[in-house]
Amino acid sequence: QAKREGRGCFRIFSDELDARIQARRALETDLRCALAAGDQLKIDYQPLLSARDDRVMALEALVRWDHPRLGRLTPADFLDVAEESGLIVPLGEWVLERACATMAKWPDVSLAVNISPGQLSSDALVERVLKILDRTGFDPTRLQLEVTEHAILDMEGAVETLKELRATGIKLVLDDFGTGYSSLSHLQKIEIDKVKIDRSFVAEMSLLGGSSAIVQAVATLGSSLGISVTAEGVETEEQRAFLRALGCEELQGYLLSRPMNENETGTYMERSTAASQAA
Ligand code: C2E
Ligand code: MG
Ligand code: MG
Ligand code: MG
Repeated sequence: QAKREGRGCFRIFSDELDARIQARRALETDLRCALAAGDQLKIDYQPLLSARDDRVMALEALVRWDHPRLGRLTPADFLDVAEESGLIVPLGEWVLERACATMAKWPDVSLAVNISPGQLSSDALVERVLKILDRTGFDPTRLQLEVTEHAILDMEGAVETLKELRATGIKLVLDDFGTGYSSLSHLQKIEIDKVKIDRSFVAEMSLLGGSSAIVQAVATLGSSLGISVTAEGVETEEQRAFLRALGCEELQGYLLSRPMNENETGTYMERSTAASQAA
């Protein structure tokens, strides 16, 4: 009896596994098509505001995929597949090129683009990034590349690659700071221009304390090392007030603005320019 059940379980399990593997394969094939066709992939932009005066300092490019059958997918739905299949490289190039070209409309702010582990370890990343900047006429000092500690530690040669990128004038941002390995010594090993405190710390933060000690420590460290500190995931006025008081220079989160499509971003940028001219 037990044996039969066991075998039955195995069969069901195996079917499910098969289905999952097949779904991943299908997604990979679809992503290949999407990259070739070009009109299913979209970029949303989320602003980073100066904590002092709410001026827009940068726009972060966040990729989306309007899948013909599955509807809108977010990075969590397909980045793993992209990473495992190596499609992250052409996908990353598409995002960078498209965002750099689009940013011609908003010349006064910087562009932040996420770089995943697979991109960081890919061949000739520096050359390929420079080629894109060249083609789009984008000033390297306006580009911020966001990497995670995880990506830097896992990849042999990542530190070298990041140094080369930074030498071209590109700014380096440590994203999701505080998660994973979270060793402050990385801040000195790789020269970093900015850290983004992970939204989990911002979420837990309250006026009563909690992980505000961590946020405070990062803010203090940042200012002593000359590294700009940004907080992501700001959702409440309370968090905003607290982060300002701690000396965070830039804030990002749903309270300030959700990620917006290109048209919405245009409207948003017009309004914010008008507001800062009136001020
Ligand atoms: P991330 O770089 O840390 O980006 C922040 C994520 O948090 C975004 O999710 C954003 O929509 C979301 N977010 C922003 N403000 C808030 C808030 O106040 N509350 C909450 N709960 N969430 C907020 P998204 O767009 O789903 O992206 C997830 C991750 O996928 C990004 O995390 C980034 O690591 C990665 N990613 C996005 N676009 C790209 C890309 O073009 N290339 C690569 N390699 N990775 C990307
Ligand atoms: Mg990011
Ligand atoms: Mg982040
Ligand atoms: Mg994050």
